[in-house]
Amino acid sequence: MREIKIYSFLDCIINLEKDDFMKTIGIIGGMSYESSIHYYERINDQVNEIAGDLNCAQLIIYNVNFQNIRKLMVKNEWDKIGKELARIARVLENAGADYIVIATNTMHKVADYIQSHLSIPLIHIADCTAFKCKKKKVKRVGLLGTKYTMQEDFLKKRLEANDLEVFVPKNENDINKIDKVIFDELCKGVILDESRKYYIDVINRMIEENNIEGIILGCTEIEMLIKEKDVDIPVFDTTQSHIDEIVNYCLEKENS
Ligand code: GLU
Repeated sequence: MREIKIYSFLDCIINLEKDDFMKTIGIIGGMSYESSIHYYERINDQVNEIAGDLNCAQLIIYNVNFQNIRKLMVKNEWDKIGKELARIARVLENAGADYIVIATNTMHKVADYIQSHLSIPLIHIADCTAFKCKKKKVKRVGLLGTKYTMQEDFLKKRLEANDLEVFVPKNENDINKIDKVIFDELCKGVILDESRKYYIDVINRMIEENNIEGIILGCTEIEMLIKEKDVDIPVFDTTQSHIDEIVNYCLEKENS
């Protein structure tokens, strides 16, 4: 009888030779996969740009089925979401990741809980974005994102801890509409001019009412809708800010 040897996923990872000049990135992705694609593509592009030749990033993505997470969000079952994402982060750590990133702003609601279950660092998206604001000497910022991100404190507090003054749209209808565009359109890859105009209008009203000096696109899909040229103030995209620091940390460069 033929002998069949079964290798586990961990055996395969451990047998791979790890690079000594680059860290292994563990990405919790899929929320949505529209933005995770940008993480995958740009992290590899940027590592290659710096390291040259055939170099690309050593990374492991655990892509969740967002439908399951979304169901828990709607039922407000954040304990279950925290447990599931912490479990996934542990899988990534055990598979050889040197650090973890959560490729979405909203899931940073459970970032501290996830970090408490890890012995490797978690690179927080708000710290990376605040760093870019500071670099441009912008202090008063508007924050757009899901209703969780705009109405709750988890991201705002972290930005404020980085010396920023943070404003969100004050009108509940705006908050609900911004949130709806994210889940019904952007997370499904649908980019509509009408929604772009609406977002621009909200940003312009915040410039007038709150004197904001910059706008944070605090949802990893908004960059697909709003670009720097659309508004008169600097745009701080959380996706790109996160990616830049993920790459710096991977190659152990001073943040730029
Ligand atoms: N990707 C979005 C964010 O950055 C929303 C999806 C989610 O709820 O995770 O917040």
